Amino acid sequence: MTDAADPSNYVRQREKGARDVSYPVSPEPLPIPVYDNHAHLEIEDGQGMSLDEHLLRAAEVGVAGVVQAGGDIESSRWSAWAAASHPHVLAAVAIHPNEAPMYAAKGMLDEAIAVIDDLAAQPRVRAIGETGLDFFRTEGEGLPAQFESFEAHIALAKKHGIAMQIHDRDAHDEVLETLERVGAPERTVFHCFSGDAGMARIAADRGYWLSFAGNVTFKNAQNLRDALAVTPRERILVETDAPFLTPTPFRGRPNAPYLIPVTVRFLAEELGMPLDELCAQLAANTRDVYGAFEG
Ligand SMILES: [Zn+2]
Ligand SMILES: [Zn+2]
Repeated sequence: MTDAADPSNYVRQREKGARDVSYPVSPEPLPIPVYDNHAHLEIEDGQGMSLDEHLLRAAEVGVAGVVQAGGDIESSRWSAWAAASHPHVLAAVAIHPNEAPMYAAKGMLDEAIAVIDDLAAQPRVRAIGETGLDFFRTEGEGLPAQFESFEAHIALAKKHGIAMQIHDRDAHDEVLETLERVGAPERTVFHCFSGDAGMARIAADRGYWLSFAGNVTFKNAQNLRDALAVTPRERILVETDAPFLTPTPFRGRPNAPYLIPVTVRFLAEELGMPLDELCAQLAANTRDVYGAFEG
């Protein structure tokens, strides 16, 4: 069997460099279960954990499920497989804005988007993501393909009636403008929200959701805490973007869904909200966007 025929075989390694690649200890369990709204569990980091180990370790601390996000054909197939075979996983599928120019250069962008279209028809694929614009890693001649891909993904989310997870890096105005121009899907999420309070207000006014990742805990991220402060509670989501963006005090080490409680406790503190109340709100918000995990 080839890798393409059996997506469960697919893994990627994260570059290790000089980091401490040991997994942090498990945090105290949350009083009410929440979900990790965006993770890349096909990427192996640290000592490596299998998908089952990730889910078990998460469940032990009150993290009841994970939305597994895709970024290219292989990882999107893996995401769909993971969701189809695990009741605590839902999938998002897409060609990432930094991958779109590479497919386009090979004349394969249309074909890649057709694969995403097929995957999006599966019942446990509940979002198109991650799609969007990234002016940090892509510039110049790569940008037309990025816009073309983003608009095609917006159309897919609408066609399938599912949510959309946006990746927006250094492209706030253009992302907002594109959504306004072509019309956003009914449930649009800014994954790893990276704007300020002004942008958070615009996004919330338009009915988008803001998903906060571990970087909200970083010292230099006051803009994210200001954004959080003005976001209506029913628009707040939480994610790891694992294995990246591990919250303070574990920054740089591997991230995983079982570390969501670290970020959730930080959000509760920032919002001045009782922890159980915030957990219940976050869980309800996740279900509003992606539907139920089980059944
Ligand atoms: Zn992203
Ligand atoms: Zn991501």
